[in-house]
Amino acid sequence: MIIGVIGAGYVGLVTGACLARAGHSVRIVDSDAAKIAILRGGRSPHYEPGLDACLAEGIRAGRLSFGVRIEEAARGAAVALLAVGTPSRPDGTADLSFLWEAVRELAVALDDGAVLVVKSTVPVGTNRRLAELASRTAGRPVKVVSNPEFLREGTAVADCLSPDRVVLGGGDAEALAVVSAMYAGMAGGRAPVMAMDYESAEMVKYASNAYLAARLSFINEFAALCRATGADISAVCRGMGADRRIGPDYLHPGLGYGGSCFPKDLQALSRMAESAGVDAAICRAVVEVNQRQAGWFDPPLDAEWGKDWSGRHIALWGLAFKARTDDVRASPALALARRLMARGVGVAAHDPAAVANAQRELGPSPAIRYADDPYDALPRADALIIATEWEDYRHPDMARIKTLMKTPLILDGRNLLDPAEAARAGFRYESVGRSHPCR
Ligand code: NAD
Repeated sequence: MIIGVIGAGYVGLVTGACLARAGHSVRIVDSDAAKIAILRGGRSPHYEPGLDACLAEGIRAGRLSFGVRIEEAARGAAVALLAVGTPSRPDGTADLSFLWEAVRELAVALDDGAVLVVKSTVPVGTNRRLAELASRTAGRPVKVVSNPEFLREGTAVADCLSPDRVVLGGGDAEALAVVSAMYAGMAGGRAPVMAMDYESAEMVKYASNAYLAARLSFINEFAALCRATGADISAVCRGMGADRRIGPDYLHPGLGYGGSCFPKDLQALSRMAESAGVDAAICRAVVEVNQRQAGWFDPPLDAEWGKDWSGRHIALWGLAFKARTDDVRASPALALARRLMARGVGVAAHDPAAVANAQRELGPSPAIRYADDPYDALPRADALIIATEWEDYRHPDMARIKTLMKTPLILDGRNLLDPAEAARAGFRYESVGRSHPCR
């Protein structure tokens, strides 16, 4: 099948590369010419484990090519996938301007009978409006299928090749069959394909993200309760997660969720609920708890330094919003860096993949320097904060850390280290809701 993909971001690129691996002929376009130049050089413009190999395979086989113009993706395609960004507007609603712009161009460029598939996360009601707009612009009916994406950055290639389910929205049986056939090879035919109306498909995506975010805020609230009562959140997670009705996933206390999806989708959902006249109290609480989490280490730092933090130095391990990605959108680690710098703290930061994106996001500042190696961030540090759960930080050389730091204080925002080991190595150590022998 010939497939066009519009948007070579975290979703479009992985999806296109995986479809090419499944034997389809895929052309991926992006309006960002710099991204396309990198792709034509055979590399991914962003870090995603396994993606470079997948791209190389597709290019070598002659099934994957790249361009900058939407017509190039549309030409001869049986399916065109829209995977452009839908970021938050200042008022929290989803900004659909990239989508509308792409649809107007795509509608006139698509061959008669081609199916337009919307992978971008869009508010309920959008696909129906989009189908009307596409048909009006093309001057003939354009078939539109909603196909929300559930991949996770860091494991995106595996998620895409074997998804838990494929959700399709829309009422045209022929179009739904074409999209099911497109995925059949990719998911090994194993993933259940769930067809439903546009609105339900759109809502599945928001409900899934809101539920996962809710589990994270839930466990973070319990981490606060554990800190206040002396219980240990790790033990609580173990005990809860063993219940098959609950399961262990997304019960990881930390500095809060971030990334390009949960924060923006929760905001969009809240605005959607408001305009529908529904009081989405749970979604509101999920966001509120998450925002609190950024200040998790304020009490131990206040206890160390008092209220004036100026002139202090922090080594910050991790800038990406989670491990195995270079994405820093709404990263709790960046929020923390900003908080620290605003209080006059000098930050020395390390991340295995996200430094370039963090530099772009934070801009030039004398208050932050970037280290090539985790240990290079430590000299002069009054405290080390671990903000991203990279494997690289899980088994550090504690003796080496101790000799490099000014003060032996570790604040572990991802509960990576063993508290007893940190205490034995002579550190004062705090984590997120775990009781420690060094308290
Ligand atoms: P992204 O910002 O990484 O990529 C979007 C790409 O679209 C950019 O490269 C941009 O240049 C390109 N683009 C914008 N307008 C264009 C146009 N008119 N023509 C060609 N290219 C254009 O975004 P993303 O993270 O891949 O997310 C895409 C959508 O998928 C969003 O709606 C997001 O909510 C959803 N989603 C993302 C993830 C994730 O993990 N990132 C997971 C599931 C769903």
